[in-house]
Amino acid sequence: MKPNIAIIGAGLAGLTLARELSADAHITLYEKARGLGGRMSTRRNDTHQWDHGAQFFTARSKAFQTLLAPLISSGTVVEWQPNITTLSPDQAPYKRPWFEPHYVAAPGMNSLLKALGQDLDIHLSTRVEQVVAHNGGWQLFDDNGQLLGEFDWVVSSAPLPQTQELLPARLLGDTLARYQMLPCYALLLTINDADLPHFDAAKVNNSPLRWISFNHRLPGRNINAGTVVAHSSDEWAAAHLEDDQETVKQLLIEHFCALTRVNPAAITSTQLHRWRYALSADVPDPDCEFVLNAPAKLAACGDWCLGGRVEAAFTSAQQLAKALRTEL
Ligand SMILES: Cc1cc2nc3c(=O)[nH]c(=O)nc-3n(C[C@H](O)[C@H](O)[C@H](O)COP(=O)(O)OP(=O)(O)OC[C@H]3O[C@@H](n4cnc5c(N)ncnc54)[C@H](O)[C@@H]3O)c2cc1C
Repeated sequence: MKPNIAIIGAGLAGLTLARELSADAHITLYEKARGLGGRMSTRRNDTHQWDHGAQFFTARSKAFQTLLAPLISSGTVVEWQPNITTLSPDQAPYKRPWFEPHYVAAPGMNSLLKALGQDLDIHLSTRVEQVVAHNGGWQLFDDNGQLLGEFDWVVSSAPLPQTQELLPARLLGDTLARYQMLPCYALLLTINDADLPHFDAAKVNNSPLRWISFNHRLPGRNINAGTVVAHSSDEWAAAHLEDDQETVKQLLIEHFCALTRVNPAAITSTQLHRWRYALSADVPDPDCEFVLNAPAKLAACGDWCLGGRVEAAFTSAQQLAKALRTEL
């Protein structure tokens, strides 16, 4: 009989793992958000949309290129060739060339996950709150204390600090204590395209901001609905993580306007998103691609072990799937 596997989190890592193992096991995915995206989310209202997490991705491994090939053919993934600049409060802007292909999903970054999630058993708006040992397997409970199901195996693909809250530390091993995830603020604005500078995106130095993108100019977006995504640096976000959020937003808007010379009066709406676990700090153990405790039937994967990028999430899950297949 095929084993039952619960996967916590339906970001790129969780979906990759589910797809890789779907012939070998019954897979159930639990995702606390209302929709698919994770840190590749797209936020929408009636007129505008913002990719407020991952901005682009690279595909360096053959395996990731193979996954992307049909999605590139269908237009779900598109190479992004932006006019990109470098901004700093104390230096003149200069153009920043890219030397390898960079991709985005269209019409929103979460389109990649929507495509990968088709035909999988995904329970959205379901936060796994507790994982309890039971009869040689595991029971999962939601945040209302309701039993979600009984499983032979549990894999967490949640960001590491959330995985550490859910799975028993003694079963995950000591290595994880050395890993760290860093926060980031995302400032989301609407501004008419005509009021924005000519570049598409900017890497920012010597500022609380680290990245600015005129999100509507990405391939497959509505060019008339001008949207800006500006990300803070992780250092600045860490120093201001618990500050009043309105103050944080106003400060970041001031920096954005000073850097881009956009008139504050041109901004027609503002939002702030706080990512507590956005990116990974340095990778302490380059050989650790996932965590697997076969006797306990527990595992964890995600971008955090390989450097906190989209392709890292894919690789971690794919390598865990390979290892798990020999244990099922
Ligand atoms: C601001 C920002 C900018 C970034 N920029 C880039 C970039 O330009 N290029 C790049 O390559 N990468 C970038 N990244 C990183 C990239 O987004 C991640 O590496 C990748 O999306 C991680 O995928 P994942 O599946 O490992 O994790 P996630 O996408 O975080 O997926 C984990 C999922 O688990 C869910 N979850 C957590 N806890 C529970 C629970 N208890 N129960 C149920 N579900 C749960 C979460 O809701 C989430 O959907 C950026 C990230 C951020 C936040």
